[in-house]
Amino acid sequence: MRRLEFHITYHCPERCAFCSEEHRMAAYNPFPVTFGRVARVLREQAERGVESVHFTGGEPTIHPQFVEILQLAKKLGMRTSIGTIGTRLADPAFAARALPFLDEALFSLHGPDAATHDALTGRPGSFDRLARAMENASAFPGFRRFVNTVLVRDNAARLVETTRLARERGAELLVVSNVTPEGAGEDAYPHLTLRLDEVRRLVPAVLAEAGPMIVRFFGLPACALGEARMYANDIHWNPRVTFEWVRHPDRVSLEGLYSWQPDRKRAKVTACGSCSWNRLCHGVFARYVELYGEAELHALEST
Ligand code: SF4
Repeated sequence: MRRLEFHITYHCPERCAFCSEEHRMAAYNPFPVTFGRVARVLREQAERGVESVHFTGGEPTIHPQFVEILQLAKKLGMRTSIGTIGTRLADPAFAARALPFLDEALFSLHGPDAATHDALTGRPGSFDRLARAMENASAFPGFRRFVNTVLVRDNAARLVETTRLARERGAELLVVSNVTPEGAGEDAYPHLTLRLDEVRRLVPAVLAEAGPMIVRFFGLPACALGEARMYANDIHWNPRVTFEWVRHPDRVSLEGLYSWQPDRKRAKVTACGSCSWNRLCHGVFARYVELYGEAELHALEST
């Protein structure tokens, strides 16, 4: 296991309607992930042979020692990436300090315009800040820009335009993430989630618009992707250890949790038993089956 994922903040200035971290942020934001704690984990993991670290949160760029954390990770020989909605990277002076120590960023883009994106993030100006952050990143040769877009009912009709914008802004990779039934995404799941038959109809147009971008579909069963099942993130998953706060009866502690497969909150259905992809695909969100049943899931024949 060579990949580390690290939650270094439990704060975020946005209020995304589907935020999978919302409950954990509420529970753990009184417990700062101090530089000392981060440094200890990074050093231990580097000694174990971890080669890359992905900083996430909350919003990782708002950690008060974000740049020092990146510097330490680079000093330990790690490849560095973040998942961000832009935030402090929109400031050119901050971007100039941070970006030399970052190799790549997965930018959260949830619509092709401010009206769509800001309505989902709950914060006016979010789309413009993200645009400035991506522009600042584009000034660094070799810096790799990726885009994550969370697919919900309110932005599904704009997904092809979002794909186009990601391509025009220089993204090399587009991750289309199915809304996850966790945090705010769990609370509002029946209002957020798109039916799998609708996803299946959208996929060809997304791929046609993507051009040279690599596309991955996260949190979706392979049979919902039809002919595009090779783009399922399930089959491109890298095992990782995730460091985050864990609550015990008498304390919280920062612990490493191992993720060998992307099977969190997912379930198999009757059709999976005769499906040629049963060992590759990790099924559908269990909450989805509770709401809508199994009728949209179909065993795939071997090709
Ligand atoms: S039938 Fe089951 S295993 Fe096969 S692609 Fe669908 S969800 Fe995955």
